Amino acid sequence: MVGVTMVQSDAQVVPHPDEVLGSLLARRAWRAAHGTASFAKSMGLPWDVWCRDIDRSINVLFLNKVAEGLGIERECVRTMTVNTFLSKCGVPVQAIGFEPWITYVGLVRWKRIRYGQMYCCRCLDSPDRYLCRDWRISTNWLCPAHSLPLQDCCPECGKPFTPYRDDELVLARCGRCTTSLAGHDLQPVSDEELELHRHIQSIWNDARTGRPGPLCALYRHLSEVAVCDPRFALAGEHWSYWRTWERAALLRSQEGVIVRLASHPSRGALVWCGYSLACDLSARPKRRTASMPIDPQRRAQLLLDMARRVRWPRRSRARVSR
Ligand SMILES: [Zn+2]
Ligand SMILES: [Zn+2]
Repeated sequence: MVGVTMVQSDAQVVPHPDEVLGSLLARRAWRAAHGTASFAKSMGLPWDVWCRDIDRSINVLFLNKVAEGLGIERECVRTMTVNTFLSKCGVPVQAIGFEPWITYVGLVRWKRIRYGQMYCCRCLDSPDRYLCRDWRISTNWLCPAHSLPLQDCCPECGKPFTPYRDDELVLARCGRCTTSLAGHDLQPVSDEELELHRHIQSIWNDARTGRPGPLCALYRHLSEVAVCDPRFALAGEHWSYWRTWERAALLRSQEGVIVRLASHPSRGALVWCGYSLACDLSARPKRRTASMPIDPQRRAQLLLDMARRVRWPRRSRARVSR
């Protein structure tokens, strides 16, 4: 009851239009002088709320409790998840499992072991700092407001950014080495990159206004390139799991296609099943292999030759924090 009173008296922490839900909860908790865990408890939320990806999606029960506890509209809470935004853009969404366009944070209990949560160090420099939805969308690698590349880890120790642990978001500092995450010097991005980002944004805007074709076509194209292009052959994993600069390299390499899709939205109109086609890439017919010779010596030699040619893809562990 005490907690609820505190929450209601703290109505000045209002959600930003593009803020994600966890960010608002963390900011309210900080203003109410609560830890994130005790704040969730005082609102009657389940104990494992911070072990779930609440920025991605929430269930109805949770939605009702948050709306009641924070004193805001249910619809407002619902729009604070990335999934709501994606479904508005015509992207198929689900509560758990793989989903196009979202980056993955690798939640293991209270820890986030992947580098999916991006941030702009200049945006975090503001006293009214919050997490915006764009920092979980996999086509973003720069902040258009500050022309700076987005970061996904501590600049000092390399730990993934875990905004709701150790008050990393509200204090804008690394929970492990206490280095400030805000305002460190970075090389600004080039004008060409900003232009490319604008084209990608226009594809997203088309999708939000009822023309998801180009976005769908872009997804299918990027997924094919990530699998078939020799430049990305060793990357492993789906490109949504890649680090920020790896995704930036993929998008930069496909500038021509992106510009064409953005300038001619009708191009993607016929692509009606792009998302499912891209998921089915692994189901394509396998390359035909020569039959094995009967002579054991020749067979052994052939196997040795094949083993020498194998290039192991980079393991997913490369993108998981240790
Ligand atoms: Zn920024
Ligand atoms: Zn650190």
